[in-house]
Amino acid sequence: MKLLILEDSVALAKILSIKLGKELDMEIYIANSLAEAKELVEQHHFTMATLDLYLGDAQEDEIVDYFLEKSIPSIIMTGSDDTALQERISKKDIIDYVLKDRAESIDYMIDHIKRVLKNQSYTVLIADDSALYRAQIKNILSTQLLNTITVKNGQEALEELRNNKNISLLVTDYNMPIVNGLDLAITIRKQYKKDQFPIIGISSDDITSITFLKHGVNDFIKKPFFKEELSTRVNNTLDAMENIEKLNTFANTDYLTQVANRKAFYHDMFDYYRKSKHSNTPFALAMIDIDHFKQVNDTYGHDVGDEVIKLLASTIKDNIKGRDIVARFGGEEFCVVLKDISPDPALMFFESLKEKVASLRIKVNEEKQISFTISIGVATSYHDSLEEMIQHSDQLLYDAKRSGRNKVCLDSQAVLA
Ligand code: GH3
Ligand code: MG
Ligand code: MG
Repeated sequence: MKLLILEDSVALAKILSIKLGKELDMEIYIANSLAEAKELVEQHHFTMATLDLYLGDAQEDEIVDYFLEKSIPSIIMTGSDDTALQERISKKDIIDYVLKDRAESIDYMIDHIKRVLKNQSYTVLIADDSALYRAQIKNILSTQLLNTITVKNGQEALEELRNNKNISLLVTDYNMPIVNGLDLAITIRKQYKKDQFPIIGISSDDITSITFLKHGVNDFIKKPFFKEELSTRVNNTLDAMENIEKLNTFANTDYLTQVANRKAFYHDMFDYYRKSKHSNTPFALAMIDIDHFKQVNDTYGHDVGDEVIKLLASTIKDNIKGRDIVARFGGEEFCVVLKDISPDPALMFFESLKEKVASLRIKVNEEKQISFTISIGVATSYHDSLEEMIQHSDQLLYDAKRSGRNKVCLDSQAVLA
C-alpha cells in the first residue's frame, strides 16, 4: 500500500514521512507541489494521500478536487485556521480535515489513517426509510473507506443480518415502516449483546434517543447531523469493538505459546462435551506432558525451556484441525481435544504426533541441537463429567510416564492400523 504526502515544506514533508513510515505499514511518497503529485499519481496506485492546502502552484479547491477526481481518499492537513475554507473543504468527500496547530495533530492523523485502513475490511448496514439520508450516510461512511449495505426498514435489516454474516455495525433510523429502529435494536439485542454487535441509532427527536439508548444501542446521533459527527462516532464505535476483542483474546490466550488457556478450554468444551455425550458423538481428550523437562531447564536454561514449550505448542497447532482444541494447562502440560473422532484414528494421530515431536530439533547454541519427547494420556469414554474425563486422561498420562515415557496410553481397546 502506498501513501502520498503532498507538502511544500521540504523539512515538514521529511518529518511527516519518517513518522508515518514508522507507524504505518505503507510505502511513503513525497510531492512538494501539485505538479509533482500529478506525476506520481500517474505512475503509482495510492491507497491514500495527506494534502497540504497551501502550495505555490495551486488553489486549495483545485488540490482537493484533483484527488477526488482520481478517487484517492485524502486527509487534509493544514496550518490555516480560516474557518470559511475549513467549512467549504470539509463538505467535500474527504476523510478528515486536520489542523496542524499542535504536535499531537500528527498522532491524531496517524490514528485516523490506521482506522480507515482497517475500515476497508468492515461492512456497515444502514437502515433508513429516507432515500436522501440513506445516500448521505452511505456517502459519509464510504469516505471512511467502510463498505456499506443500505436497507429501507427494520424488516429488511433483519433479513440482511440473517443472510450476511460479514456485517460489523448497524446504523439505524428510528421511524421506519414495518419494523422501526427501536424494535430492530430490541430484536438484535435478544441475540447479541452490546459488545458483540454494535448499533448506532439515529433520530430527529430527543425522547427517542433516550429510549434507543435504554434498549441497547451503543451510541446515538440526532438528525440533522454534521458529517464529521457521524464518521467520528462510527470510527469510535469500531475502535471500542476492536479493543473489546483484543481484551477477550488476551483473556483467553496463553501468553507464552499463544494457544488457548485453561479458561478458554473450559468455555469451548462446556457445550461440546454435553452435546457430544447427548448425541453419542465420539471424541478424544489428551493430556500431553514433556518428558524430563526439568533437565532441559537445568542444563540449558529457562529460555531454552521456553523455546521447547513454544515449539511443542506450534507443532500441536499445526497438526490438529481448525475445530480441534489445544490449550496450555500448566508449565509444560497441554490438553488437546480432537473432535468427532473414534478411538482408532485418535490413537494413530497421537502416535504420529509423538513421533513428529521426537524428530524436532532445537538449536541451543552454534554447535548443539537438542531433541525432546512427550508422553500422552488419551481418554475417549465420556465418564460422568468433563472433569472426570480430564482426570482419567491425567491418569493415563501417568501410566505412559511410568511405562518408560515417549509413549501414548489410551483408555479403549484401540489398535494401530
Ligand atoms: P516428567 O517426565 O516426569 O514429566 O519430568 P519433568 O522433568 O518434566 O517433571 P515436571 O513435570 O515436574 O517438571 C516441569 C518443570 O517445568 C518444572 C518447572 O520448573 C518447569 N516449568 C514450568 N513452567 C515453565 C515455563 O513456562 N517455562 C520453562 N522454561 N519452564 C517451566
Ligand atoms: Mg424515518
Ligand atoms: Mg514433564
